[in-house]
Amino acid sequence: MKILFSTGEVHPFSKTGGLADVSAALPKAISKLGHDIKVITPLYSSCNKWLSDMKHLGGVDIQLGNFTQRADFYLLNYEGTDHVFVRNDHYFNRGTYYGHHDDAERYVFFNKAVLEFVKFHKFIPDIIHINDWQSGLIPYFLDESYRKIKEYKNIKTLLSIHNLEYQGSFDQSVDRLFNTKFNYTYIHFDRVNFLKTAIMRANAINTVSPNYRNEILTRFFGFTLDGALKSREDKLFGILNGIDYEVNDPETDKYLERNYNHRHFIMGKRANKKLVLEKLGLDGLLEAPLVSFIGRLARQKGIDLMKATLEEVIASSNATFVLIGTGDPEYEDYFRYLSNKYSKKVAAYIGFNDEIAHQVYAGSDIFMMPSLFEPCGLGQLIAMRYGTIPVVRETGGLKDTVEPFNKFTGEGVGFSFANYNAHEFKDALERAIELHNNNLVAWRVLIQRAMRQDHSLHRMAEEYLNLYDKILKGA
Ligand code: ADP
Repeated sequence: MKILFSTGEVHPFSKTGGLADVSAALPKAISKLGHDIKVITPLYSSCNKWLSDMKHLGGVDIQLGNFTQRADFYLLNYEGTDHVFVRNDHYFNRGTYYGHHDDAERYVFFNKAVLEFVKFHKFIPDIIHINDWQSGLIPYFLDESYRKIKEYKNIKTLLSIHNLEYQGSFDQSVDRLFNTKFNYTYIHFDRVNFLKTAIMRANAINTVSPNYRNEILTRFFGFTLDGALKSREDKLFGILNGIDYEVNDPETDKYLERNYNHRHFIMGKRANKKLVLEKLGLDGLLEAPLVSFIGRLARQKGIDLMKATLEEVIASSNATFVLIGTGDPEYEDYFRYLSNKYSKKVAAYIGFNDEIAHQVYAGSDIFMMPSLFEPCGLGQLIAMRYGTIPVVRETGGLKDTVEPFNKFTGEGVGFSFANYNAHEFKDALERAIELHNNNLVAWRVLIQRAMRQDHSLHRMAEEYLNLYDKILKGA
């Protein structure tokens, strides 16, 4: 199969969020399965350090209303996957990715350049896989301006939604750049909405977990696009994200004090716990549970539930806490407050640090993720891979991936609670601590089961290929 994968960001060339990780991981996994996939993305200033390794393929003039702008295409094979960079220094050679006065014009340009690349490079894909708002007008331009041309006649499109909150909503005057007739389907609250346009026009749509797929059809989770999504419900799918099992592998992870696997993890986890306790100046006993949080400090992550309950749990249990994150100053201050007040029982690390994060995933016993909403969530997947038992709210991908522990049958891989309610969160956390303290046999079975879950990229790639297939067959 031939796929053109269009994305506004791709790790390690550009990144503001999870979109960049999936844009790196999924095409790599699809190429490994023998398919012809090219990633196409803007050449931002953060990509300049790879420029000398790239091959300049040539360029085309892109018509934007009554003027043109040049798009130059550069090719780089990175870790086995072809990446095509769209270069226009006026639009993309800037220190930040988004938030510029001309964002609408920059991404109209990018969307047209992606379509022009097909003809320019004679790379006729079966599918153009677009991601989030940054590629949102591609299906529309394809239908309105390109379908008549033979190379484009049979191309299908898939939209993946990684973050529904960011929609690319711009003043209607952007239509002056379209060179095609205006259409009501891409207007939302009197503005041109790139994501809504993609939702209305793509052959199929997916988001990053089956449960979140259902949630976004409701008002709370839909961010005003629930109506548009509902109108395409029969073409809306959910595919769980995977994680890179080479990067996140306790057996080979270079950051760890001692490596381990799902058969032999007791000594390995213990050595890493010792490292974390010492490194962060904590007093906890190796036998007592180490409870961690690693994530963006945003309302989405449920820090408010932690604010309402953690002090009580600190007072009433033998648990030690490690809190890692950066973001909203209100939450950063809360983490600092806790670690100052309970300096031997709580450590806070305010910042982004891969090495400490990996050591904490490995050294902890329990991982908290009480999110308000969560399209998929990677933290709980990484925690499970490292044998750390997640305590999560039953929302989005957390519900799909963390089967709750059943004390009667012993089944499950973690602990969960249903409502966004501090008492329910506290109860779930205390149930985890209780099992850890009082039933080591059941706890170890839980660890083993969590570590054996399959959230590999291979599984994710297979699911996307099945969806491509379905789209090509006209489903
Ligand atoms: P989101 O994409 O909403 O931020 P995810 O759980 O999907 O949340 O992914 C977050 C990823 O970023 C995980 O791999 C997590 O380990 C990592 N991460 C988040 N905050 C930090 C931090 N402060 N230091 C290191 N890694 C972090």
